[in-house]
Amino acid sequence: MRRPLIVANWKMNTTLADATVLATQVKNAVSDLDVEVVLCPPFVWLVPLTEILEHAPANISLGAQNMWFAEKGPMTGEISPLMLKGIAKYVILGHSERRSHFGESNALVNDKIHAALGHSITPIVCVGELKKMQEVKRTRGRPTRIDTRSNILHQMESTLKGISRENIEKIVFCYEPVWAISKGTPESRNPAEGAYSNLVIEKLRAVLAKKYGQNIAERARFIYGGSVDASGIGEFLFQPEIDGVLVGGASLNAKEFIAICREASGRE
Ligand code: PEP
Repeated sequence: MRRPLIVANWKMNTTLADATVLATQVKNAVSDLDVEVVLCPPFVWLVPLTEILEHAPANISLGAQNMWFAEKGPMTGEISPLMLKGIAKYVILGHSERRSHFGESNALVNDKIHAALGHSITPIVCVGELKKMQEVKRTRGRPTRIDTRSNILHQMESTLKGISRENIEKIVFCYEPVWAISKGTPESRNPAEGAYSNLVIEKLRAVLAKKYGQNIAERARFIYGGSVDASGIGEFLFQPEIDGVLVGGASLNAKEFIAICREASGRE
């Protein structure tokens, strides 16, 4: 079984003081847990947090929330892979908020994936459908067949363009149904069902299997993101296809996020 990966996406939140306290609390709490934890703060807190995590256990590291694909140049306001190298072990790419607010296309996300891999930064690539897919069949109250004729398979195929067999294993895929992402508050949480997410990830793995073979597809890490909190985490972690979670709103609350990590560490 793959080790659970728990990624905190702080988005455009936290002051330096908040970020310091949050990272310290998480670091102290997860050292003896059997999970890999990645904190993705705003860019400006990456360097200060590097100091906080300097003597941290190996199971906690930093990730960036985005990056540009070129190493340097006239790109006002952007951050390059060269700048992140050695600071961020991971980078979130293709998040739906980047796709919708900043018009990021599949082709651009693909360029960024290549750039991250070229600089030894592990991409966490987000894909997700805008609207919930139709359930074709339910068995014992759980969806067992869904209609995946949405944009998601195309999104998956095109983000993989030109990625070698060797590199594909380095990518973490994140299934984030756009309709399930919260507005950052507990009231706005609307997670997908675990069984539904498991079915979608099965289809996404099939895309990998078709292109790279069954073994690679089985080894690939797939996490789920969208309105995860401590009370609902079990729903996802006990699904065979799901290897962890990307947590937005709930990752800003140390108690809640640590509870998520503990729950994931105890999974069978
Ligand atoms: C996200 O947008 O990456 C996310 C997982 O957000 P939330 O948990 O708040 O739905």
